[in-house]
Amino acid sequence: MKFIGAHVSISGGVENAPLNAHNIGATGFAMFTKNQRQWFAPELSASSIEAFRAMCDKLGFPPQSIMPHDSYLINLGNPDPEALAKSRESFVGELHRCEQLGLDRLNFHPGSHLKKISEEQCIELIAESINLALSQTEGVTAVIENTAGQGSNMGYRFEHLAAIIERVDDKNRVGVCLDTCHTFAAGYDLSSHEACEATFAEFERIVGFKYLRGMHLNDALKPLGSRIDRHAELGKGYIGWDCFRYIMSDSRFDGMPLTLETIDESLWPGEIATLKSFV
Ligand SMILES: [Zn+2]
Ligand SMILES: [Zn+2]
Repeated sequence: MKFIGAHVSISGGVENAPLNAHNIGATGFAMFTKNQRQWFAPELSASSIEAFRAMCDKLGFPPQSIMPHDSYLINLGNPDPEALAKSRESFVGELHRCEQLGLDRLNFHPGSHLKKISEEQCIELIAESINLALSQTEGVTAVIENTAGQGSNMGYRFEHLAAIIERVDDKNRVGVCLDTCHTFAAGYDLSSHEACEATFAEFERIVGFKYLRGMHLNDALKPLGSRIDRHAELGKGYIGWDCFRYIMSDSRFDGMPLTLETIDESLWPGEIATLKSFV
């Protein structure tokens, strides 16, 4: 079973996300669980939680079809101790919200060294952050997203993901999400069937599909290895349709959210329908 959808709005409350996803023909979705531009948010109300769960049940979205994304403010590898502590506290809050909503995974960007510490030191901090957060929460898997490697962002090599996972104590609660745009921008080719075969074989060798918990489906506005994170509509960037056809016809991507983060929301119903036609 393929869970295909997009990163939908929670405007008016998290309980609106399932219907927003259903209305565009999605069978899975991504969402924030609060305003992503804020560090902390008021607790989710009991009625909001209940409504969210009821709508997911009614519309047929099981937890494994949903991938919440944390706030972009959080940097779990921040070299500044005070800023790191704030990020860690905020991240635990994000995991708690997922717990409350009955969700089983939280997608986040690993972190940035801000050119103040080495990549290795940053990886140590990120892994320590994950261990601390997992020890304070239950049942939610920390899903590390690969990055384009823009600025000082870590996670642009499969080796970074593997090194973080290696340092996480509870391997059952750590996973990864591959963003096709980020993967391509980081220098892993996805622009043909053969290129996908090679890139995903490398992923299997370095990280392993057993850790894959979701995919972000975006085309890339910039060429291979640009290290620039600019999403394009599917088929309108340097990646092209072959990659998305490949993912839809490969069972290694079953049972996890496969979500669009493309710019033009009005194209989502069409993009989702096309993706479904490839399955
Ligand atoms: Zn992301
Ligand atoms: Zn993404």
